[in-house]
Parts: sequence; C-alpha cells; structure tokens
Amino acid sequence: MPYVTESGKKLVTVIPGDGIGPEVVNAARTIIEATGVAIEWEERHAGASVFRQGLESGVPAETIQSINKTRVALKGPLETPVGFGEKSANVTLRKLFETYANVRPARELPGITTPYTGRGIDLVVVRENVEDLYAGIEHMQTPGVAQCLKLISHKGSEKIARFAFEFARSEGRKRVHCATKSNIMKMTEGALKRAFESVAKEYPDIEAQHIIIDNCAHQLVKRPEQFDVIVTTNMNGDIISDLTSALIGGLGFAPSANIGTEVAIFEAVHGSAPKYAGKNVINPTALLGSAIMMLRHLGEFEAAAAIEHALLVTLEEGKVRTGDVAGYDKGTSTTDYTKAIIANLGKKSKKWHVREYKPIKLPQVTKELDFVKPSVRRVLGVDVFVESPLLPEALGKSLEELCASTPLRLKMISNRGTKVYPSTGAITDCVDHHRCRFFLREEQGELKDDQILDLLTRVSTKHRWMHIEKLQSFENQSGFTKAQGED
Ligand code: NAP
Repeated sequence: MPYVTESGKKLVTVIPGDGIGPEVVNAARTIIEATGVAIEWEERHAGASVFRQGLESGVPAETIQSINKTRVALKGPLETPVGFGEKSANVTLRKLFETYANVRPARELPGITTPYTGRGIDLVVVRENVEDLYAGIEHMQTPGVAQCLKLISHKGSEKIARFAFEFARSEGRKRVHCATKSNIMKMTEGALKRAFESVAKEYPDIEAQHIIIDNCAHQLVKRPEQFDVIVTTNMNGDIISDLTSALIGGLGFAPSANIGTEVAIFEAVHGSAPKYAGKNVINPTALLGSAIMMLRHLGEFEAAAAIEHALLVTLEEGKVRTGDVAGYDKGTSTTDYTKAIIANLGKKSKKWHVREYKPIKLPQVTKELDFVKPSVRRVLGVDVFVESPLLPEALGKSLEELCASTPLRLKMISNRGTKVYPSTGAITDCVDHHRCRFFLREEQGELKDDQILDLLTRVSTKHRWMHIEKLQSFENQSGFTKAQGED
C-alpha cells in the first residue's frame, strides 16, 4: 500500500543518483507533475556522494527509512566507485527490500529505427533479482581457484515463476517462456524450470514454454517477435535484458522495475553515463518508462497512459530526438525533449497503442522462513575439497591409506568437475583444487558428523582441506550431481 500524505497525495522516495541521474530523474518528475497526478516526493540520496562520506554500503539510514515508509522509489543510476565501497549500492537497495522481480520491457518505438523496425517487438524480461550468482558469495578456495556460490531456492523460484504469470495477466499477455540452463545445472537452474512447470498449471489461459537460455539468446536475435514474457534466473536475465534493450534502440529506451512483496524501486536499465553528466544531452526515455511503470504500480493508470501516449506521439512526430538517436552534434537537449513530451500530453497516436493494464496480483508470501522438511533424508558420504600439489594418482593413494580403517572409502577425485581418479584415461588439465568424494562403505548406512570430523582430522595430517559438502539424499532422491566421467 502506498503512503498517502495528509494532503491526500501518494508519497514517493526519489533518489536523483549519480552522473546523468539528476537530469533523467528531473525530466521524469517534471512530466509526471505536468499530468497533475497527486504525487509528492521525498528526496533521499544513495551512491557516490554517500560512498565519499565514508559509508561503505552507499545507502544511508535516512534513505532506507524513507523507502520503508513510502514503499515506492524512483531512482536515478548509482555509480559503484572503485576504491570507496566494494558492493554496488544498486544491488544493496534491491536486496535490502527483497525486490525479487526485475521487470525489463522492450518494445519497438516509433521513429527509433533499428534492424528490427516493423517486426513489432513487444516483450518483457522478468529476471529473478536477489538469488543466483548475484548473492555475491565468493571465496578463493586455493590461491589459484575461485568459487562463486549459485544459490537458487525453491521459494524464490516459485515466487518469480508465479510473478511472471501474474504479470502476464495484468498486461493481457498470452505467453510466458521460462529460460534456464537446466540441461547442465539440473539442481539450480532446474529449480526454476520445475517451479515454472508446476505453477503454469494454475494459469491455463497463458501458454507456458521452457527454452534453454542459449537458444533463447539465439531466438531473440533471430525472431524476437515470438516472445511475450521471458522469466529467467538472475544472471541470464541480466545478460538477455541488455540484449533486448539493444533490439529496440539501446539503453536510452530501456526501463525497469524492481518489484517486491512490500517495496518497489523503479529505475532505468542504464548506468550513470558519466561522460554525459551535466551536459543536458542525455535521453530520459528509459527513466520516463520506469516512471510510467511506477504510476501503474501506484494505481495511477490514467496518468501513466497519458504519459505513454504523449511519449509515443512525440517519437512518432520525430521533431525532437536526443543525441543518442540523432547524433550528439544535432540532438535535442534533455530539457527540450521533456518540454515536447509535456506539450503532447492529452494527444494520442492513431497507429501506436497503449495496452490495457490491470493491477497485478502479487504472489502471497508469508513472513515465515521457508523450512522445507523432507519425510526421509540421509547423509551418504562427503566431498572433501583439498588443495594439493600432488597429481591425482598420488593424492588418491594417499587418501585411500588415510581412510583405510574408517567406515568411509574414497570413491573418486575430480578436478574442476571431471573425474581424474581412478583414472579414466581422459586428458585433463589439472589444478591444485581437488574434490575428493568419500562414501560410506556400508551402502545403507547413515554417515554421522563425528565420522566426518574423524575423516577430516586424518586428511589434515597430510593434506590441506578447505571445504566440505555433505552428500545427502532427500525423499530418496540424490541431492548432489556426479562428476563428468563418474559412474
Ligand atoms: P552506462 O552508464 O549505462 O553507460 C554506457 C553507455 O550507454 C553510455 O556511454 C551511452 O552510450 C549509453 N547510455 C547510457 N544511458 C543512456 C541514456 N540515458 N541515453 C543515451 N545513451 C545512454 O554504463 P557504464 O558506463 O558501464 O557505467 C557507468 C556507471 O554506472 C558505473 O559506475 C556503473 O557501476 C553504474 N551503473 C549503474 C546502474 C544502476 O544504477 N542501475 C546500472 C548500470 C551501471 P554511448 O557511449 O554509446 O553514447
């Protein structure tokens, strides 16, 4: 629910941002105000200026408090300055408010000529926004081998899949593709595919189709008009949504919304483009598109449609074109482009339509922790990750000696995912990072923690271990994958 001020206006936190941020935010704000819609702004800051004050998160408490109150923010791009803070203030904001759905529409626009002009591209990428490799959990496991954890939850997958179908319904869209790499990452990427296929049954009015992400990228370049909504995991979505922006004219035209159960943050896909900052030349359309999405989120459908019509008319007339379209030596200034859109408020294009939008029904999420309780679970073995200069044959023999009198046997060693011990005869370029897989000798047994600790103590007498993973089964289904070449 939006926060309504005493004067009856909906309160929105506005963050001007860095570089070209203040110019594009100001353009969108001026156009919104020109519609007369009852919006009031609470200005707060984040990004470079905050990092410079020494706050490492880049997001001060008063900004968090404001968003907590208003539940809606319109945000300019934020720089991630090298040397001040390590984490991106953008990602911090998205994660702090659990804005799990990143919505990135790409629609052909009048007067913006691309190789795809006339093909009617009108699609939306729904990107999972808080999980996956972007959880940012990275470790140097050995001085030469880095690891990034790809965490995908059942709860997160179900939520984003459901969101995609609800989003399709709210915009009257008929088809949702789910794009994953589940053929390779069966457990992580596969979690979204499984959630999608299960949730799809509740939406018989919408065509649901799974597509492998690499083919999706190929199809997006070849025949983008076949897509309506594409739901995908965080990193895949990051990449393909930049691709879809390019299909319709580039970052100057690519809006986005970060939607959560409680908070929504609207921003352009682009960054702070510092070389154009303060020059009054930048294209504000992307942030304006985000502002239109914000108005719809606030239930202000009329004002949103008025701005979208005015934008389409302005682009169709082609009298004003910003530097990214016309060339920076002859482009219209940001402020004149803004004025032209305001002058067109109230007009409608005969050719370019605006969709009928309905309020979105956000998936219901309980505040409770998602604790998944299988009826049967078992620990069958353990993967011990060892940093060692030994070749697999020597390491394997040594580990076999160390576990000889224990309930555990060494099944195999893999190096960067490929089995290297016992040798398969494969040609593998080994590094000093070995995954050593131990199973209970007694197949029906249950591996206890003290047996794992005993194994680690023995391994550490001769080798340096740095990480372990339990090999578990849930509901009698294996909870781990095999190495390449492992039988
Ligand atoms: P960028 O700021 O998006 O700019 C890259 C290029 O895209 C620009 O040089 C320009 O292309 C074009 N462009 C971007 N916005 C445009 C607009 N409104 N109108 C017309 N053209 C536009 O990407 P970057 O240079 O990689 O990143 C700069 C900073 O922004 C970094 O600190 C980065 O961390 C941050 N960033 C923030 C966000 C965010 O806040 N969500 C997102 C991305 C990046 P031409 O040079 O071809 O004219």
